[in-house]
Amino acid sequence: MTGDDLQALASRALEEIAGAVDLDQLELVRRRYMARHGGLITSVAAELGGLSGPARALLGREFNSAKGTVVDALAERQVTLEEERAGGGLADEWLDLSHPVHHLERGHQHPVARTIREIEDIFTRLGYTSVAGPEIEDDLHNFELLNMPPEHPARDAHDTFYLSGAAVGWLYRTHTSPMQMRTMLAGAPPFRIIVPGKVARRDNPDPTHNPVFHQVEGLCVDQGVTVGDLKGTLEHVARELFGAERGVRLRSSYFPYTEPSLEADVACGICNGIGCRSCHGKGWIEILGSGMVHPAVLRNAGVDPDRYSGFAFGMGPDRIAALRYSLRDVRDLYENDMRLLECF
Ligand SMILES: [Zn+2]
Repeated sequence: MTGDDLQALASRALEEIAGAVDLDQLELVRRRYMARHGGLITSVAAELGGLSGPARALLGREFNSAKGTVVDALAERQVTLEEERAGGGLADEWLDLSHPVHHLERGHQHPVARTIREIEDIFTRLGYTSVAGPEIEDDLHNFELLNMPPEHPARDAHDTFYLSGAAVGWLYRTHTSPMQMRTMLAGAPPFRIIVPGKVARRDNPDPTHNPVFHQVEGLCVDQGVTVGDLKGTLEHVARELFGAERGVRLRSSYFPYTEPSLEADVACGICNGIGCRSCHGKGWIEILGSGMVHPAVLRNAGVDPDRYSGFAFGMGPDRIAALRYSLRDVRDLYENDMRLLECF
């Protein structure tokens, strides 16, 4: 290598140093030319070892000069790039602590979901377990085992969506009661369960009805369970949900799967019992149906009705939510109108 070669090498190094846009690139340049082993400039030192006399002295001076220039240039470029990086970082991370904060929208549970959660809480404290069942049911569990054989007139009120094709005989459940059946068939008494879930019926939409709605079904089966237990439980639940002041009444009713059957009403919160459009002029709104489990239903579930008795009930959390929040129309709950939902 001659002195001219060395100078050409040094000026190429200086160009690359000037062209390095960040510290990583600069480090690559440094290694290419100045690495302790195999650097393009540093390896010239090995060549010097093979020379002697004036040639060695001459190339040695050239080598020291080139090496010094490149080392200085590397150090200088490094300082510049470090300053750039620090400055750029600060610009990116700049934060104006006096800037007003954007309003953060916080979501919350839908009024129906919240009502179901509260019903679950009330019954959990009474020793009930909340269980979930399938939304698509067969005729056997939805009707027949619950004392509603084909042609039973009570099925009229339970018209629903029927599945076709390979799924003939299957339907969208009309109540969550099939899960009571499934629970009893799978276990042994005592039973204390509630079954929240979605159900469907051929109801014409009006202020208190919607074809798809929610239900919380409950079942208590044990030895010596009486109508008094049912009445006490329902009154307790109504007081928990609506407060001690709201009027509650029980009246007799009919369901094929309970005997005797009772319905519970609460005073209409819109008109306070006077009668209005929301309560169909009655002053009261039905919130649940209930009764003592029919002995035939217990037998269908493999429970001996001579040893065990029990009560069952089904309540509509949609209607209960509308009542608690004094909504005029239960359908308002499904409109997804943020102006309404933000009120809760
Ligand atoms: Zn009313």
